[in-house]
Amino acid sequence: MEIALVGIGKIAVDQHVPAINASPDWELAATVSRNGSVPGVPAYTDFTALLAERPEIRVISLCLPPVPRYAYVAEAIRAGRHVMLEKPPGATLSECHALEALATKHRVSLYATWHSRQAEQVAAAKAFLAAAPLKRLEVRWREDVRYWHPGQDWIFEPGGMGVFDPGINALSIVTEILPDPIHLTGAELGCPENKQTPIAAEMDFFHPQGAKVSAHFDWLAQGTPEWTIEAETEAGHMLLENGGAKLTINGAAPESAPAGLTGEYPRLYAQMAELVQAGGIDMDLAPMRHVADAFTLGRRVSVAPFHW
Ligand code: NAP
Repeated sequence: MEIALVGIGKIAVDQHVPAINASPDWELAATVSRNGSVPGVPAYTDFTALLAERPEIRVISLCLPPVPRYAYVAEAIRAGRHVMLEKPPGATLSECHALEALATKHRVSLYATWHSRQAEQVAAAKAFLAAAPLKRLEVRWREDVRYWHPGQDWIFEPGGMGVFDPGINALSIVTEILPDPIHLTGAELGCPENKQTPIAAEMDFFHPQGAKVSAHFDWLAQGTPEWTIEAETEAGHMLLENGGAKLTINGAAPESAPAGLTGEYPRLYAQMAELVQAGGIDMDLAPMRHVADAFTLGRRVSVAPFHW
């Protein structure tokens, strides 16, 4: 199937283009970006022009930041195209619900991707926790924003979500691997006094069986990043590290290696191919609900100004 990629920036170049090029399902038929392009691929700067001039391209993958996303998705759906969304699927929950309704109305597929859920050991962690009553779960997501998001001013603007831009990846894993639903009971958001979004966050959650569930996000951590989810259960200790790539249960790695495709983005594109062929919508907003709850319930604490 031919696919067009919109928003040629960091994640498009780092992950989407290699995944599409390596996939037996997809051919990168065009890009849309005001400044970016991919060598050898027809480049458009205007999305409306692409939709009008390339009716044979039935699928659009959007890699824009969340705030400008809604207008692009709505236009693509109205033009009868299937759409794949980078995380987070939108700037607000309401616009995501509106897009889901629009996709249903126009009978196109819509896939809100959560790339971290495709990390190598997430399924194994989920399988362990399914049979291991939880006592405690702690998320530690600490990285250096200057290294991982160099110069991306949009992340500190309203809708950019700040430290929740990476933090939502952790929440996407937590909401996938925990058998029980959790909800936020309190949060503290460290907001630089010259920015609109938090650079650090502490979150506490209610767990129906009384387990202590918390998350700690820090965007000023120097050195090696930490993307860890640690759990104490009645069946022992689970450590999910490297953003879901490494799993240790009671001190040992699980025995069987996962089969099938390797890599988060190749898996996402394989799933999009299946979704388009089968028809349907995959729009799980659970990770985003927790972020919205943190902005609703969280206590803001002013911290030192941030400069790149
Ligand atoms: P980015 O490089 O800052 O932006 C992607 C591209 O979107 C830009 O190069 C720009 O292309 C276009 N764009 C930016 N603002 C726009 C606007 N207002 N209107 C229209 N186009 C605009 O961001 P990114 O890091 O690739 O992230 C994009 C999305 O992927 C985000 O939702 C992010 O959470 C997600 N993501 C990022 C990473 C990562 O490591 N960076 C990892 C996973 C997921 P033109 O200037 O050429 O139009």
